[in-house]
Amino acid sequence: MTEAPGEFELIARLAALFGTPPDGLGIGDDAATWPPDAGSIAVATTDMLVEGVHFRLDWTSPEDLGWKALAVSLSDLAAMGAGPGRALVSIAVDAARRGLVLDVARGLQSLAARTGTWIVGGDTVRSPGPLVVNVALVGRADPARLLRRDAARVGDLVGVTGVLGAASAALALLSGGSAPPDPAAAPLLAALHRPLARLVAGQRLASGGVRCAIDISDGLASEALHLARASGVGMEIDVEAVPLAPAAVQLLGVRRSRELAMTGGEDYELLFTFDPRLRAELATDLATDGGLTVIGEVTDRVPPGSARFVEAGRAIDLAEPGYVAF
Ligand code: ADP
Ligand code: MG
Repeated sequence: MTEAPGEFELIARLAALFGTPPDGLGIGDDAATWPPDAGSIAVATTDMLVEGVHFRLDWTSPEDLGWKALAVSLSDLAAMGAGPGRALVSIAVDAARRGLVLDVARGLQSLAARTGTWIVGGDTVRSPGPLVVNVALVGRADPARLLRRDAARVGDLVGVTGVLGAASAALALLSGGSAPPDPAAAPLLAALHRPLARLVAGQRLASGGVRCAIDISDGLASEALHLARASGVGMEIDVEAVPLAPAAVQLLGVRRSRELAMTGGEDYELLFTFDPRLRAELATDLATDGGLTVIGEVTDRVPPGSARFVEAGRAIDLAEPGYVAF
């Protein structure tokens, strides 16, 4: 933990760390300000991570926590087809651990720098107990090319980026008490602690003619259901086609890995539907950011507003639902 500075010094250090955008409108005034971007629409999201609920500091370093707090918001922008922009970061921490603020900030800034995000404000307050990190992020998109949950149409294919179940496989290993010793778990731990939002993929989907997407934060099964409900269509997912993390298969086996991919969550990949005629071009467009795997279709053989998951020719019942907040 960084040695604890006083409040003014803390904010000065945060301002120096986060830097000033090229237009000079950085941290320091009563509110953040920036000019609108001609022709684009603002896309805003906020996510809060609470110690003991979303993370434990014995499993996650404060730097990784900062990284992740921004990554989950960037993933929301990716799912809208939006590009990055400016963020406000609020941190609550108990007095004895206030040095953690700078550690969290360093992790935040490393992902901010990598993605072209500027942190232009926030709040730092005392907490009676748990560490809380909130990121509010405002990006931008072409209003005619937004990705939405309600735009799936019968006849679309269903695609995903990347592999699923890696982060939840890491959590399964950590809670089993056996994670760090096995070096084979490294890619799983990286997926859990340093997720990479699919910002490039999301924007390529949007410019490539895709209209319907969601990011996978609570498990594929529940996100598929969200798309089916919002769009009023039926969706069929071929569970055997879902891309799994090789390290998860190696350490936990295919069955458990598949279960985690369907219901585990924290993947921060994109789930989307698209006209089959776009398939070849999307595969090329996504090659540098997760790739394209087709895992199902939007079909009137499944009742509107529901999703069917098929394995070995039979519809399966998923034992665990996705992550629920309460
Ligand atoms: P006020 O009391 O007017 O809200 P603060 O002292 O809280 O002002 O904040 C001073 C400046 O530092 C503001 O520009 C604010 O946005 C910024 N700031 C405070 N905490 C953070 C943080 N955790 N991350 C980024 N900027 C912060
Ligand atoms: Mg304040």
